[in-house]
Amino acid sequence: MEGDKEGSAEPALRLAAVERRYRQGDGHLEILRGTDLAIYPGEMVALVAPSGTGKSTLLHVAGLLERPDGGEVFLGGRPTSSMNDAGRTRMRREEIGFVYQFHYLLPEFSAAENVVMPQMIKGLARGEAMRRAGELLTFLGLGQRLAHRPGELSGGEQQRVAIARAVANAPRLLLADEPTGNLDPKTAGHVFSTLISLVRASGLAALIATHNLDLAGRMDRRLTLEGGMVVELD
Ligand code: ADP
Ligand code: MG
Repeated sequence: MEGDKEGSAEPALRLAAVERRYRQGDGHLEILRGTDLAIYPGEMVALVAPSGTGKSTLLHVAGLLERPDGGEVFLGGRPTSSMNDAGRTRMRREEIGFVYQFHYLLPEFSAAENVVMPQMIKGLARGEAMRRAGELLTFLGLGQRLAHRPGELSGGEQQRVAIARAVANAPRLLLADEPTGNLDPKTAGHVFSTLISLVRASGLAALIATHNLDLAGRMDRRLTLEGGMVVELD
């Protein structure tokens, strides 16, 4: 496919006039107020905003974990609001990878097995899934840690396994919610470098909430949330 990003290619993720509110007492807390956003394949975008402004809410709505109260979420150009829960779950499993501040790896399983799991749920044979897990973990610098359990890994290593698990099924979109928020600055920088090379190598689109302005500065674009709307920084 040729053509510039804004022109021909479909955004991997598009939010159109998305609203999200939570009940509070008699009234509502308006978190997203008709916000728009587009992220194209191969783009790495930072979401930088103070605590409580709605970053996690936006990621949950974008990742089909929550339904918006208004507007539409498009994934690869497809509208998602009319899909039923089973369809949304399938789409989330096949097209979206998530990374959270805490790794949520399964403690009884090795690093490789944690990356194998989502692939087998998708229907891949174990051998094939294991090969991909080995490749991914090696790419992320964990080739010598395949058989380690999460408890035998450092915080940075655990997050890299979580990243490998998130992209195991080759999603189009990676959503990360303060993925290095729990790490010391040096480790955070290192995890980010591997994340950036992975995104660059795979052509994923990534939206990453972070408080770290240095790390945000290494991404293609920076967005913030103001009054429930996404605003471009810089
Ligand atoms: P951030 O990730 O930027 O810190 P969040 O998206 O987690 O912000 O939350 C935005 C606001 O919405 C906060 O004031 C939070 O308390 C509120 N909120 C988040 N989830 C819920 C919920 N399930 N019910 C009610 N209020 C919520
Ligand atoms: Mg949050």
